[in-house]
Amino acid sequence: MRPIVFAIAALAAAPAYAQQDLSKAEVRVEKIAPGVAVLFGAGGNIGLSYGPDGNIIVDDQYAPMSDRILAAVATVDPDPVRFVVNTHWHGDHTGGNEAMGSRGAVILAHSNVRTRMSSEQFIAAMGSKVPASPAGALPVVTFEDGVTLHLNGDTLHVVHVAHAHTDGDSLVHWQKANVLHMGDTFFHKASFPFIDLSSGGSIDGLIAAADKGLAWSNAATRIIPGHGPVASRSELAAYRAMLADVRSKVAAGIAAKRTLPQIQATKPAGGYGMPEGFIKPDQFVAFVHESLTKKPKHRH
Ligand SMILES: [Zn+2]
Repeated sequence: MRPIVFAIAALAAAPAYAQQDLSKAEVRVEKIAPGVAVLFGAGGNIGLSYGPDGNIIVDDQYAPMSDRILAAVATVDPDPVRFVVNTHWHGDHTGGNEAMGSRGAVILAHSNVRTRMSSEQFIAAMGSKVPASPAGALPVVTFEDGVTLHLNGDTLHVVHVAHAHTDGDSLVHWQKANVLHMGDTFFHKASFPFIDLSSGGSIDGLIAAADKGLAWSNAATRIIPGHGPVASRSELAAYRAMLADVRSKVAAGIAAKRTLPQIQATKPAGGYGMPEGFIKPDQFVAFVHESLTKKPKHRH
C-alpha cells in the first residue's frame, strides 16, 4: 500500500504549484546584469537576454501568461522575441511556446524535449497525464550536447545535462554577463527539488548538473534557479552539498536493507531549513530512493 499513499501525498501537494490562479499572476522583472533580466510570474523563472540583436528568452511559463510575459519583455526592450530556449519539457516552462512561435520566435531545446512534447506523457509522481503539445509549440531546432548563441554582445552556452530533473535538461550560461540559468535542476528557497523519474530524471544526474553549474560560476555569478529567487554560487554549493548528503544517507539505508518507510523515518532530508513547498522532505527521499534502486530508462 505504501506506493499508493505516496502517490496521494504527491497529488495533494501538486495544486499549490501547478494549479495557481493564473488570471491574477503578475510578471515581475528584475534586471540582474548588463543585458540580462529575470521574469518572475507563474511557473518557471524566465531568463531574458536583451540588446541590439533582439530578445532571447529562456523558458516561457504557462500559455495563459504569454501576453503578460510579452508585455513584461517589452518594458525592457520593445523588439520581438527572436529565440526561446526551453530548459526542459514541463508545461510550466514551455506553455508559452505556441504563442512565442506564432509571433516568429525560433524555439530551441534538447531533442528529448521535442520527443516528450510530441506525445502524451505521464508524470508518475504527480499522477498527471500531460497531452501532446500542438505542432506549433514544439522546438524547431533541437540539439544533443548543446548549442551556442552569439547575440547581444555575449555568448550564450546552452548545454545539456543528462538524466537530472528530466532527460532533456539544459543549463544556459551567459559568458560575458556571468549569469547562469539552471532550469529545474536547481530549486532555490522553494522546496526540495522535484526529480521527475518518469521523465528520465535521477539524483546522480541532478548532482552532476549542480557540479556543472558550480564549474561555470564564481563568487560574482548570478544564478537563476528554475523556481525561487536569484542565487549565488555559495547557495548553489549548499544545495549541491544537500543533494549529496541526502543521497549518501539514503544509499546507506539501502545498503543496510532498510525499506523506504524505514529510511524516511530516519528523516534523511531533515535539518536543511528548506521551506515547506511543492516537494516535501519524505517525497524527495522517495525520489532519491527510487533513483538509486531503479535503473533509469535511457532515451537517446
Ligand atoms: Zn520541471
